[in-house]
Amino acid sequence: MNKNIKSWIPVAKDSDFPIENIPFGIFKTKMGDGRCGTRIGNKIVDLSLLAENNYFDDLNFDVSVFYEDKLNSFMELGKDICRKVRTRIVEIFTIENEDLQHNAILRSQVLFDIDEVEMLLPVRIGDYTDFYSSIEHATNVGIMFRNPNNALLPNWRHLPIGYHGRSSSIVVSGTNIHRPKGQIKPKDEDPPIFAASRLLDIELEMAFITNKSTNLGESISANEAEEYIFGLSIFNDLSARDIQKWEYVPLGPFLGKNFGSILSPWIITLDALEPFRVIGPKQEPPVLPYLQTKGKRNFDIKLEVYLQPEGKKANLISQSNHKYLYWNIAQQLAHQTVNGCNINSGDLYASGTISGPTEDSYGSLLELCWSGKKEIKLNDGSTRKFLEDYDTIIIKAYAEKNGLRIGFGENITKILPAK
Ligand code: MN
Repeated sequence: MNKNIKSWIPVAKDSDFPIENIPFGIFKTKMGDGRCGTRIGNKIVDLSLLAENNYFDDLNFDVSVFYEDKLNSFMELGKDICRKVRTRIVEIFTIENEDLQHNAILRSQVLFDIDEVEMLLPVRIGDYTDFYSSIEHATNVGIMFRNPNNALLPNWRHLPIGYHGRSSSIVVSGTNIHRPKGQIKPKDEDPPIFAASRLLDIELEMAFITNKSTNLGESISANEAEEYIFGLSIFNDLSARDIQKWEYVPLGPFLGKNFGSILSPWIITLDALEPFRVIGPKQEPPVLPYLQTKGKRNFDIKLEVYLQPEGKKANLISQSNHKYLYWNIAQQLAHQTVNGCNINSGDLYASGTISGPTEDSYGSLLELCWSGKKEIKLNDGSTRKFLEDYDTIIIKAYAEKNGLRIGFGENITKILPAK
């Protein structure tokens, strides 16, 4: 895409949504139903109304996809159509194009201020997989709970570890989550009790969404995997560490993980992230051929976690980066399907907690407080180890290079008391 294009919609310098971004999401106004939109600066663009006014007529696709309240049908049209649509949107809103710019009536129908709309869950999520792709995170957890000298389990460098999660409890940013209840063991030697979780945590993750289906028995190679990936979004995989600790042996995460996971409303296409590709960490020992990828498969996306106590200022508690991921998204999808497992458009694949190498870059409170051994100091004088009721967690993500900033907006959730 052309750099330095200017939109006739004002875009602040530090905006996540310049005209080069063109993300996709689902919004609704007070009056209307959910429909597809994009965002430039602080304006939401109604794609269904652009379609109704013939702006996509010559692109030869069924524009009724824009009237749907999920992106699945649009994504299924494929990357070629998606690229044409993004290019057309850039044409419409570029400053040289006076057509819609000088049509005050239509302009007022097509554009909404961000505070006029409600953002909805952007995709109908069929299946959800959560990986464990950050070597720093896996190492930290291994040191805390197993063996500091042998923190990574023997399989970790050979395959992207993952588990099948639950999609019904994935909600859009802005949804508040009640503290979960369940079986916990406050003391290891005592029997379990039933209580509200006391060790409620965040997981700083990014998720990718697939845009195609495969048939059972088929596999996607690592080299073609990105053709199946529509884009990325911010994902907060809330986790109740006390419930998780007692239940996870021998079958893995269950009720400690499925009481609410938060997805941000905008899906940023891989095309928009193209300028921010970087080489991932060196994989040692070399991975099996079906997992081998060439070139720049990681993305330099800055990640920030803020914790905001009720009525107080937000505190930046972690700064990480998507580029730290040991296993890239192509490897994750190749591994998911190598046994013939089929996928669908609208599946969600989360990275796992993305921690960096330094103590200020850890992606979970578990690591930031080192399993309760340290306190996280907040600017109001209070401290945290895990989340308290009415704490709000805000995750931001953006890539920046040569004056171009492509961002993801925010992923926000507030913790409410147990029901
Ligand atoms: Mn997770």
